Amino acid sequence: MDAINTRFGHLWHTPEQPATSRLTVYCKATGVALAALPVCNEQDVPEILARAQLGFDIQKALSAHQRSQQLQRWYELIIANSELLARLVTLECGKPLGEARAEVSYAAGFVSWFAEQAKRSYGQVIPSANVAQKLTTIEQPIGVVFAITPWNFPLAMITRKVAPAMAAGCSIVLKPSELTPLSAMALWQLAQEAGFAPEAWQVVHSLDAKGFAAAMCDSAVVRKVTFTGSTAVGRSLMAQSANTIKRLSLELGGNAPFIIFASSDLDAAIDALMVAKFRNAGQTCVAANRVLIESPCFDEFITKLTARVAKLKIGHGLEPDTDLGPLISPAAKATAERRIAEALSEGAVCHYRAEPLPSPFMAPVILTEVNQAMAIANLELFAPIITVQRFRSEADAIAIANAVPEGLASYFFSQDMAQVERVSSQLEYGMVGVNTGLISNPVAPFGGMKQSGLGREGAAQGLSEYLETKYLCQQF
Ligand code: ADP
Repeated sequence: MDAINTRFGHLWHTPEQPATSRLTVYCKATGVALAALPVCNEQDVPEILARAQLGFDIQKALSAHQRSQQLQRWYELIIANSELLARLVTLECGKPLGEARAEVSYAAGFVSWFAEQAKRSYGQVIPSANVAQKLTTIEQPIGVVFAITPWNFPLAMITRKVAPAMAAGCSIVLKPSELTPLSAMALWQLAQEAGFAPEAWQVVHSLDAKGFAAAMCDSAVVRKVTFTGSTAVGRSLMAQSANTIKRLSLELGGNAPFIIFASSDLDAAIDALMVAKFRNAGQTCVAANRVLIESPCFDEFITKLTARVAKLKIGHGLEPDTDLGPLISPAAKATAERRIAEALSEGAVCHYRAEPLPSPFMAPVILTEVNQAMAIANLELFAPIITVQRFRSEADAIAIANAVPEGLASYFFSQDMAQVERVSSQLEYGMVGVNTGLISNPVAPFGGMKQSGLGREGAAQGLSEYLETKYLCQQF
């Protein structure tokens, strides 16, 4: 933490403040306090929004090229500080350093992508039936944006909202997760150094996420809410945004099926599942949540998978050979254990479990004989638990996969080309990994169908989410 504090320490450490008005941040592996931050509450909202309105005036007055250059400088600063950012993510989020480094590069990828896209918010000229009329559209920034982000990707969930907002010419108020606010502060500092106006992007912390968000949603000044987190909170933000008809981008919970058809390359499928399941110790919204295996390859797949899972090393994310860090909190582990116990009581079988570890570290578990009627198949696990269901036909697999209200990520393995076409089109998911377990990419549209959310992040669509289309009808 020393090198991190030398570079970014002026952004935190506020020991003089009374405990009630500060947010203490802990190392997730050791429980040691890392830093404290000042917080705000609903009374501060009018002042925050007045600054944000000023920030909107500043940001929208820049040319698209100037906004692009700002973002490009920010990208370069993130890359120049990537090792410090990666270590900070490992400390406050828990993920292994290798994954944290990959996150820095993923997060920076959004900034570089939207630096390019900033120059491409084209309007249209629409052919008119009336020769005395010119019909055009222009794209304009939507206004003041309120963003709420989670702890599982403390950098990338921020850049994929802030970068397109800045590219479009909006201003943004970000409330990062109270569990990982230091990464947000470091990113903000680098954005300041890149030339962003402090009013254009504000970072706020609160001990009362609900009350603060309610006050922000009540205000007509906020024109858009963008949120990544649980479905329950997304639903409540949607309801709170109804009064003032805000634009919404919601990236909510998933319940990803990972389907292995009999024609699969089993070794490739296992490699992919290890990534899709165990990245961030299973705590991602695109994590493989339900493994569905076709009968003919069931036994071989389970045997090979178990051998791989048994080799996983669990420990502090800064140790070089760690595969899985701690869960985000002891409470998260307690929830996971409760769900396992419930599944066992419903008839699931514990096929594999390593030696128990002290909380919040959790050893991986493989549960077989799971079916879709069990609670565990209908919950987003956010833990290193593999639940396995057996299926007998392609139609069965599709029916099981689609039998949940979520529709974020899905994965399947098959070497049958016709099957690849059929299954890709029938899965009710916003994202489908075909013969791969790693699909996230700044240039591709990330988002869900059904109750997994609204809108897309990244790609060309990611910029549109922050733009209003204005239609001009000109008579001459
Ligand atoms: P997770 O279970 O992944 O932590 P949450 O949805 O609880 O997901 O948290 C994601 C983000 O939403 C965090 O920044 C958190 O502070 C914030 N949050 C939690 N509850 C509320 C709420 N009722 N209203 C607005 N934001 C909330």
